[in-house]
Amino acid sequence: MKLLRAHTKRVVVVLTGFILCALPLSARPGVRTTVTPDLYLEQIADSVWIHESFTSMKPWGRIGANGLALVSGNRLILIDTPWTDELTGDLVNWFFSNRGCTDVSAIVCHYHQDNLGGLGWVHEQGYESYSLKATIDLCRQKGLPVPRNPVTSPHTFRFGDTPVTLYFPGEGHTVDSVCVYLSTERILFGGCSVKSLESRTLGNTAEANLGAWPGSLRAMKRMFGEARIVVPGHGKAGDLSLIDHTLVLLDTHRSSHD
Ligand SMILES: [Zn+2]
Ligand SMILES: [Zn+2]
Repeated sequence: MKLLRAHTKRVVVVLTGFILCALPLSARPGVRTTVTPDLYLEQIADSVWIHESFTSMKPWGRIGANGLALVSGNRLILIDTPWTDELTGDLVNWFFSNRGCTDVSAIVCHYHQDNLGGLGWVHEQGYESYSLKATIDLCRQKGLPVPRNPVTSPHTFRFGDTPVTLYFPGEGHTVDSVCVYLSTERILFGGCSVKSLESRTLGNTAEANLGAWPGSLRAMKRMFGEARIVVPGHGKAGDLSLIDHTLVLLDTHRSSHD
């Protein structure tokens, strides 16, 4: 009898495993969906995805960048666009086809291409965009697509019933790098001022404020210390330890340049 029960248990375990494997990829949190060979989605909450897009850039070669996609009612909210107009079109069309979205709002976290490379497409389609005024000024100066609506930090958008908070913790990766917090899901998009755990360097520091960066990270952690998931600008998501890791990288960088 005991033997038979053990056998039944094994069958149940095997069957459960089989059913889990048979679920469509997009329904399993943490599993990547390939939209195109240069665009991936990872669902991290019921209505939140990380979008990761790839482009080739000299001298780095193929380079990935993260943003978030949030669905609230029929609206798709992009926290940063992919690298290009084409990738942004691919991303938005995926949500229009698979999640019934009909409207888009884009929040730009700083003025680099991995944040706003698809903003021209967003505007062409008649959708809205938001950023700090500092980002708008830099985009104008540099002849980039210009976010349409300035906001002051901290600013909480209400897209349907989903609060989305944009916060400028101080200068870091650039003078205008903001982070975005989804309080309902406790997800923090740290942007490029937060490095992934596998990062061994600070990445592109050409326009960074290395002196202010550690204080800005501490402010970010104080403000959003309840975050459950932290998404960096590049590489794998994790938890608040990504901020501590970035502080260590800053410290190492400072002592090697003293
Ligand atoms: Zn950047
Ligand atoms: Zn970046």
